[in-house]
Amino acid sequence: MDSMRGRFAPSPTGELHLGSAFAALLAWLQVRAAGGTMVLRIEDIDPERSRSLYTEALIADMKWLGLNWDEGPDIGGPFAPYCQSQRRHLFEEALQYLAEAGLVYPCYCTRGELASLAPHGSEGERPYPGKCRGGNVLAAQKRKPSLRLIVPQETIVFKDGIKGVFVQDIATAAGDFIVRRSDGVHAYQLAVVVDDAAMQITHVLRGEDLLDSTPRQILLYRLLGLTPPVFAHVPLLVAADGHRLSKRQGDLSLASLRAHGARPENILGYLAWKAGLLDVFSPVPAADLVPEFDLARIAKGPVIIGDDAVAYSGASL
Ligand code: GLU
Ligand code: ZN
Repeated sequence: MDSMRGRFAPSPTGELHLGSAFAALLAWLQVRAAGGTMVLRIEDIDPERSRSLYTEALIADMKWLGLNWDEGPDIGGPFAPYCQSQRRHLFEEALQYLAEAGLVYPCYCTRGELASLAPHGSEGERPYPGKCRGGNVLAAQKRKPSLRLIVPQETIVFKDGIKGVFVQDIATAAGDFIVRRSDGVHAYQLAVVVDDAAMQITHVLRGEDLLDSTPRQILLYRLLGLTPPVFAHVPLLVAADGHRLSKRQGDLSLASLRAHGARPENILGYLAWKAGLLDVFSPVPAADLVPEFDLARIAKGPVIIGDDAVAYSGASL
């Protein structure tokens, strides 16, 4: 078997916090435990939300934690560039391929129209009902369309390394999803597939918030004639009441923990303990956690972070 290639692929839209450090640590451990190659890819595809100062801060925080990489924007590598903002031509190529296969169509729906078409649901993503599939000529004159993928009626099944078998009917869950926004920005779903394939990533370990995107990505791999990697989705960090973390519990940025005296070994030991890789808390440098890594030991449910997270980090706030 070829050796493992894994990656950490943050979006530079904010500072690294305990939740993102948790996913970064586990992705790093998986690769290092297998003697593989670690890639850092900056997913700065959305110019409205990405800031280069966050890219620099992410790199500094990862280094401070002792999580290194073998290929990345700062050191280059055989699959450079490692920032998505410089890889748009590759996403456009993939889109052309899908378009030539007749799998993509323009959608002229506005946000308001989409809201009124869809049945009530939580805000955010709802399955697209396919209104523009057959062409929407009147609207075509007025505005720039987004591009949507024609999603087949089919159930996608895959085996997640942590969550086990995951089943999704994409047509019901997402509908014909967007592959390029009306402002020309390629969708995350497309970009992540094109880049993971181009960078020959064999193993994707990331947060559970992306579990239900994975079937869409597996579909894109297939339509583009590419082989999907092996997936593992790690639990999210939550407060004891199941809600978002607050400042007290670790919604704090690593930068601010560090500024208040936190130490990398404390944070790593705390996260590894919470992940299920250590039986008790102790401060540990990253390299010493490598032999402890075992996917089977990683917690499957949400990981509860108490008010004591800050104290464990060594910071005094
Ligand atoms: N860039 C995505 C994020 O920060 C993660 C992409 C991935 O790991 O697939 O949420
Ligand atoms: Zn539409």
